[in-house]
Amino acid sequence: MTEDTRPKSLYQYDPEGLQARIVELGGQKFHAKVLRKQVLEKGLLDAHGLTSLPAALREALPTKLPLLAGQENDRVVSKDGTIKFLTEFERGLEGRVAIETVHMPSLRKNSERGATICVSTQAGCPVGCTFCASGLGGLIRNLKAHEIVEQFVRARALGPIARCVVMGIGEPLLNFAAVQEALATVREGLDIGARKITVSSVGFPDRLRKAADENPRFDLAISLHTPFQEQRDALVPAMAGVPIEDVLAAGDYWFEKTGREVTYEYVLLGEDTDTPEHAQALAECLQGRRATINLIPYNPSRDLPYQRPRTEAVEGFQRYLQDAGLVAPIRWSRGLQESAACGQLRALSQ
Ligand code: SF4
Repeated sequence: MTEDTRPKSLYQYDPEGLQARIVELGGQKFHAKVLRKQVLEKGLLDAHGLTSLPAALREALPTKLPLLAGQENDRVVSKDGTIKFLTEFERGLEGRVAIETVHMPSLRKNSERGATICVSTQAGCPVGCTFCASGLGGLIRNLKAHEIVEQFVRARALGPIARCVVMGIGEPLLNFAAVQEALATVREGLDIGARKITVSSVGFPDRLRKAADENPRFDLAISLHTPFQEQRDALVPAMAGVPIEDVLAAGDYWFEKTGREVTYEYVLLGEDTDTPEHAQALAECLQGRRATINLIPYNPSRDLPYQRPRTEAVEGFQRYLQDAGLVAPIRWSRGLQESAACGQLRALSQ
């Protein structure tokens, strides 16, 4: 592989480094903040439109300080306005990787709310959930913080962002430093609060506890998917051998430390995880916990052996949990079923 000689892009610099670069290009230190604000907060990606910067600096940006590092190489728009786009990044020893991001506009009529975006944290995924197309090829590499930020920047250019779910491809807790760094940039740039950001994990207990100790400024969702140990070991291979009780205990720890309730995600696989026995065991597992269980009816994928659950099974499952006193909304997926990869979890956003 040849050395990458392209200039570093905007979000590859830390704030001080960016100031220094801007000064080198003829601007003043404070232009660094102006530039980041215009790009992330306003979604301006055309350097010539950044009129609050001096003309010489604007001219220099495309060749000396590009606003983006990657290139969009595919985009799918569904009927409900959901957009999935792939961004290709070249840096990294493994060469090019294509990263998936989803932008979901609010479906509420006359709503002034912005969209929800779903970002990826790894190229490929090492967790290997057997119902997820993204896990089939394993991990290619962790994303860098700026590659995570760039997904927000590109999504912001499509319209205002109200919420963010870190539920795209990858396991955020296995690339946590980059995720934290990216979210800090995004919170500042988009002025988005902790409760508007949800990070989803399969729930590595030690990592969850550590994250809870670090004053996390986001909400947590744990992908549980089944209340039965043997089945979870098979469905979520990276968690094989990790007792479900330990995952739940780590979720309890999160709640104690942060005061924020955990959401549990449960993908309903037709005739695999949507049976009355599953509903009963799940209710027993979560009884007494302050938590929401998002029920996500599975979207079949051509390469995987799982089925969409019947509507009666989904509704019966929900009724059982509700009768047991649990909060269990059904999250039907948004568009893009045909092309969704990990997207099983994206339904959570609305
Ligand atoms: S569902 Fe999420 S954690 Fe599981 S393999 Fe897919 S991307 Fe990874």
